[in-house]
Amino acid sequence: MLDLIIIGAGPAGLSAAEAAQQAGLDYLVIEKGTIANTIRQYPVGRTMFSTPNEVEMHPGALKPVREKPTREEALSHYIHFVLDLDLRINTGEKVVSVNGNIDEGFVIKTDLGEYEARRVLFAIGAMEHPRHLNVPGEDLPKVHHLFVDPYAYVRKEALVVGGGNSAAEAALFLSQEGARTTMAIWREDWENRDPKAGAMKHWVRTPLEAEVKAGRLKVVLYKHVDEIREREVTLTTETGESMTLPNDVVFVLVGSDADLTLLKQLGVKTEAGKIAEVPVYDHETFETNVRGIYVAGHFTHARHIKAAIEVPRRIVPLIAQDLKGHR
Ligand SMILES: Cc1cc2nc3c(=O)[nH]c(=O)nc-3n(C[C@H](O)[C@H](O)[C@H](O)COP(=O)(O)OP(=O)(O)OC[C@H]3O[C@@H](n4cnc5c(N)ncnc54)[C@H](O)[C@@H]3O)c2cc1C
Repeated sequence: MLDLIIIGAGPAGLSAAEAAQQAGLDYLVIEKGTIANTIRQYPVGRTMFSTPNEVEMHPGALKPVREKPTREEALSHYIHFVLDLDLRINTGEKVVSVNGNIDEGFVIKTDLGEYEARRVLFAIGAMEHPRHLNVPGEDLPKVHHLFVDPYAYVRKEALVVGGGNSAAEAALFLSQEGARTTMAIWREDWENRDPKAGAMKHWVRTPLEAEVKAGRLKVVLYKHVDEIREREVTLTTETGESMTLPNDVVFVLVGSDADLTLLKQLGVKTEAGKIAEVPVYDHETFETNVRGIYVAGHFTHARHIKAAIEVPRRIVPLIAQDLKGHR
């Protein structure tokens, strides 16, 4: 029986793995994708919002060419962190169920095997379920709920739906790289200037507005999308008019939600958070109401990478102490 299974190899899971190694725990990280899978899904070449000190695993370890790291620099940093410390991670393996209790231990089933562990830390992020518009045609192959690169869409008619930074960046990159881009956004998002309320970062807005001014990017203040068809999209504008746009590709970037199913099956309670549903947990130990089950990272209240790295460093030593007490 392992001491600790960590589900997910994002910044939170990696930080937990290092803390477990330092505490001498017998641990394993299980990751359904690749190391830092969420960051690998950022747009190609994207500059992060964070400065190196907010995303690096050790002070001074991430040395970006410019002030802020790119997707590639951050990814390489996380991968070399794993290689340098020789952390125990199974990639390409998905956890499909967790059962048991703190007294007898937990059984963790994956699509490839089965493990037993005394404690389980969920570091599963919040990218599992991209939000949908739920409109006819959203299941067409040309509709994407993730934007990774703009280069396939030169001179194509592209529509980006959404009001946050991901949508704004996608619209900007597509427009800059020659896609005939329209961004459909609600007025409240377009006019939102409050960074705490998820407003577009100014270094995204400024070039975006320049694209609009240059006549390359069209912004439509809309109410809802009505239908996506092979060659066009119809939407209703904020003034209630129906608008039909020629269209080759749609990016629906309206946020995503964590998959809390495994936690709920264990009996972990959830509550409404500011942005999404979050598990209920102790804010000191990050242990949930189910003893022995812990949470960290993007699907908790500590959402950003900085907190995703810091929290496991605090809680894994507590888990190690607790385990010693039970031996
Ligand atoms: C486009 C975009 C840009 C962003 N930019 C920034 C930024 O500039 N700065 C910043 O601080 N934050 C940014 N964020 C948020 C940041 O990516 C997250 O805060 C960060 O990834 C959280 O780390 P995490 O370890 O909690 O979760 P994640 O990095 O999402 O890691 C969770 C991991 O768990 C794995 N997993 C999930 N379920 C299972 C399962 N059942 N079995 C096995 N593995 C599983 C996933 O594959 C994933 O690799 C951005 C997010 C997006 C989408």
